[in-house]
Amino acid sequence: MEKITLYNTLTRTKETLTPIAAPTVATYSCGPTVYNYAHIGNLRTYVFMDELRRVLKYAGYTTKSVMNITDVGHLMSDADDGEDKMQSAARKSNKTPEEIASFYSAVFFKDLERLNILLPEIIAKATDNIPEMIDFVKTLVDTGYGYETDDGIYFDISKFDGYGKLSRCNLDDALAGARVAVNTQKRHPADFALWKKAEPNHIMQWDSPWGKGYPGWHIECSAMGKKFLGERFDIHTGGVDHIPIHHENEIAQSEALEGHKVVSMWLHGEFMLVDGGKMSKSLGNVYTIDDLIERGYSPLAFRYFCMNTHYRNKLNFTFGGLDAAQTAYDRLRSAISSCENAPKADKNTLADAAKIKGNVNAALYDDLNFPLALGELWGLSKLNCREVYETAKDLDAVFGLKLHLPPEAKKLDVPEEVKALAEKRFEARKNKDWATSDALRAQLDAMGYTVLDSKDGYEIKKRN
Ligand code: AMP
Ligand code: ZN
Repeated sequence: MEKITLYNTLTRTKETLTPIAAPTVATYSCGPTVYNYAHIGNLRTYVFMDELRRVLKYAGYTTKSVMNITDVGHLMSDADDGEDKMQSAARKSNKTPEEIASFYSAVFFKDLERLNILLPEIIAKATDNIPEMIDFVKTLVDTGYGYETDDGIYFDISKFDGYGKLSRCNLDDALAGARVAVNTQKRHPADFALWKKAEPNHIMQWDSPWGKGYPGWHIECSAMGKKFLGERFDIHTGGVDHIPIHHENEIAQSEALEGHKVVSMWLHGEFMLVDGGKMSKSLGNVYTIDDLIERGYSPLAFRYFCMNTHYRNKLNFTFGGLDAAQTAYDRLRSAISSCENAPKADKNTLADAAKIKGNVNAALYDDLNFPLALGELWGLSKLNCREVYETAKDLDAVFGLKLHLPPEAKKLDVPEEVKALAEKRFEARKNKDWATSDALRAQLDAMGYTVLDSKDGYEIKKRN
């Protein structure tokens, strides 16, 4: 196993990873709230999760990774009021929260697949783990950290000594920053909900020692982390927006419960901006992967675009930037894949290739420096020998960019009818039925399309 350093938000320093139970590294990543499509900013955070997991595996560790699916309890406002996001989406579309969750989860997993993001070993749905959350809250109440009000159970942040240590704000800052208490029974405005009592019209509710209700969003991650990874684990990830509230609250709950530190390292991915600003529905700049595909970009070019900026730097999305990434990505694939049939390297070139691979490894083990590692791959691509192809193929385990394969054909908006005819013709060719194949080609030609055959497939082109 290789030595890896990672930047720990908690200590604001790069630290050497020292797993609790090497060779296993246990990680927890905050997953999506499945009430809507994931946007490209959300997906950047999951590309970062994937970078981490792939580097760990590449370095010889075994990953035991959990990602949750939040399908209850994430309210519209961080101040523990507003409607549950799932319930609100369900109400607006006349569906049940379960239908909403299963629809958007399926789209999310399809997005991950298209971005070649490896699935964590454990995917945990909040609604499958309610008893563990209730037990967690009950212990916090029994030990005096949790208290009951008319509308739920709250965590008393003044009882937890280290509150604010992740975001480096003290208790006074937290209290001053909290909104004027809507709920006057809270002891402190910044106390947060562990459990909410359900209004009669709340669809998702479970029996608990405090009547019918549902879990707070923060307790979900603490309870599922404990259930699947135990009372101490190595790494917790999420986007930087989670530092001040969600992760601060997770630390408070979990450490109050266990009486000791739970997570060794906190890693946070910086935000994606669009055209230099925030993504928002009102600006019409919230894009999904489907939006990019519709405009002719490939999901892996978006992955390349993300990897080309370090996860701790902001990444400004523009279509100009994505254009450049698509072009560079295609060029790199083309340069590397064309080395499949290049001659074997001489001694000097072999030494150069080995040096580059060493530089790639060093970059990756130094806080996941993918931009630097990609730069090294450009150097590799210029060596023009068979080993370029072989090295890139090996390295695909960590990049997941399929750089050793020729660039994908540009996606063309081809009518379904044309696609069907081309597929029929492909079948005819496979069966050596040349007459049918020629007739179909003529038919396609009349419709304005040509088909270019290749070794194991074909490409449809529009005739100029
Ligand atoms: P959510 O589904 O809202 O809980 O968000 C899922 C993940 O996306 C979280 O880890 C967030 O931190 C992250 N996220 C949200 N917006 C952005 C953004 N603009 N850029 C990067 N990550 C984001
Ligand atoms: Zn979380």
